[in-house]
Order: sequence, then structure tokens, then C-alpha cells
Amino acid sequence: MMIYLGIESTAHTFGIGVVDGERIIANEKDSYKPEKGGIVPAEAAEHHRKHALPILERALEKAGITAREIDVVSYAAGPGLPPCLIEGKKLAEKVAENKPVIGVNHCIAHIEIGKKDSGFKDPLTLYVSGGNTQVIALNEGRYRIFGETLDIGIGNALDKLAREMGLKMPGGPKIEKLAEKSEKYIPLPYTVKGMDFAFSGLLTAAKNSLNNSRKEDIAFSFQETAFAMLAEVSERALAHTQKKEVILTGGVAANKRLAEIIKGMAEEHNAEFTVPRQEYCGDNGAMIAWLGKIVYESKTEAATDVKPKWRTDQVKVTWE
Ligand code: AMP
Ligand code: MG
Repeated sequence: MMIYLGIESTAHTFGIGVVDGERIIANEKDSYKPEKGGIVPAEAAEHHRKHALPILERALEKAGITAREIDVVSYAAGPGLPPCLIEGKKLAEKVAENKPVIGVNHCIAHIEIGKKDSGFKDPLTLYVSGGNTQVIALNEGRYRIFGETLDIGIGNALDKLAREMGLKMPGGPKIEKLAEKSEKYIPLPYTVKGMDFAFSGLLTAAKNSLNNSRKEDIAFSFQETAFAMLAEVSERALAHTQKKEVILTGGVAANKRLAEIIKGMAEEHNAEFTVPRQEYCGDNGAMIAWLGKIVYESKTEAATDVKPKWRTDQVKVTWE
């Protein structure tokens, strides 16, 4: 069996996964948590430098292998923060020595690990994370982006709202908890443009209402508004593509209310719905190892350097 090691380092998480044939035999990670405020790229890169070797050691130990037994090394070449991406590539080259090194697309890794975890074959994917928010489906040899955020990622928006309430990172789970204590909807701006959506107007309005409304009600109203936007675009993409499976993934997929809304939408279209296991929803190394295997086996052209702005739809999908 071939052994694939994959390295994730696009943003706050440094993760290493190992795949042996069809099996994931290690998935170790550590995430940078800013003291206050948002992610500072140089600090995140510093975190990755510090944790790279200890995580590598842990991953090899979990997998029960030595570095020599690895056949192919992959890293997330993008999209992501340049100083962070560079740390992943550096470690990949170091570990690989003379073995093949493959740069893969982070967003596609989320989709492929979601497919592996669920057994879904041809899904519509709603990928919701800190920095990325996209509605994606395979069409004519590429993962097309049917809709995406025009400004910030939904996770980032939730984190910013939480910060405004004096709550620490990660803010998403705290907003979810607050929202559970309210059913009072305060009207907030709902921004869908064509098939895309935007969160900054909603965020500003929510922040402003902190002066005269309860935190719980704002958290609830923010979620209901933002998630309805995501559901609307996902629904139109589903109706258009006629896919029969829906995957909700990315860090924000942990949100029960979002899962409930998207599941309901999928069911109305007779599509199956899944949220991959938590460890495969957030950024992780296993998904990079898994996509490394797919790209290597299918002889797909890989990235040879970091690509901070690499789009999901720029990759030719030759393996489907
Ligand atoms: P990722 O960028 O995919 O690693 O995901 C991180 C993002 O997920 C952060 O913005 C978190 O606030 C967000 N997140 C994690 N858990 C939840 C949750 N239960 N509800 C909403 N957002 C969440
Ligand atoms: Mg991600």
C-alpha cells in the first residue's frame, strides 16, 4: 500500500494527516488562537513553525510509521494566507526529501474528504468556514462555485460579532449558544446578489443593534438571517444542478441550527444530506493527504508552489 502524508496550514490550523491505501491512520493538529482580535498572519505562521515538528512526530507515532515509509507528501497550496502556506510547503519539502511533493487545493480537499466520510458520490457542497463560504458542485470537469461570499466568510462574521460582544475566539459556538436563548427576531439586512451573498452589512447592523437589543436576540437574528441567505443560494444551486446529495462542511458546519436549515432544504428536493464527522469538517491534515492521493493517482497536474488566491474552479477535476 502507498502511504500519503498531507499538511494543512492555510490559516489558523496546522494539521498533518496520514493515509494508507483507503484508510486514514493519523490526523493530528493544533490551532493558533489569537489573544484578542482576529488572525494575525505572521503570528499564525509563527505558531505553525513552532508546532510543525511536534505535530509531525505525533502523526507518525499515531500512524505507526517512520518518515521513510511515506511515499508521497502533499500540502495545501492555497487558498490561504501567504506566510502560513509557506510553512506547510517548507515542511512538505523537508519530509519528502526526494519523494514526490504535491500542492493541492484546500477547498477541494474539504469536498473530497466529505465525500469519503459520507460515501456521497456527486454532492452539492456548502463549505462554510472562517475565511471561505462557497456553494460548490461538479460540472463539466470542474468544481464550479455556484455562489460565494462577496466579502468575508460566515465564520469570520460570527467571530467578529462575538468579539463585539466581548466573547473570545472562536466566536461561532458562543453565538450559537446565545441564539438558543432567544426566538425574538430583529430584522437585519439580508444580502443576496444574484447567486452570491455578503455579510458585512448584516454584521454592521447587528453590531449597531447591540446598543438597544439583547445579545441573545441579536445572535439569534444574525444566525437566522445569514443562514437563510446560505440556504437560498444552496437551494437555487441544488434546483439548477439537480444533484441528489448535499454536504455541509467547514468549521461552521458544527452549528446545529445551520445543519437543521440545510437538511430541511435538501429534503424538500429529495436530496440526501450529511455533515461529515467534526474532525473532517474543520481544517485538517487528513483531507490534504486524501486529496494528495487522489491527485497523485489520477496524475492530475498539481501546484508546485503556494497559490494564496487559488480558486476552487481553477482545478481540472480529472479523477471523476
Ligand atoms: P475553519 O475555518 O473551517 O477551521 O472554521 C473555523 C470557524 O468555524 C470559526 O469562525 C468558528 O467560529 C466557526 N465555528 C466553529 N463552531 C461553530 C458553531 N458551532 N457555530 C458557528 N460557527 C462555528
Ligand atoms: Mg477550511
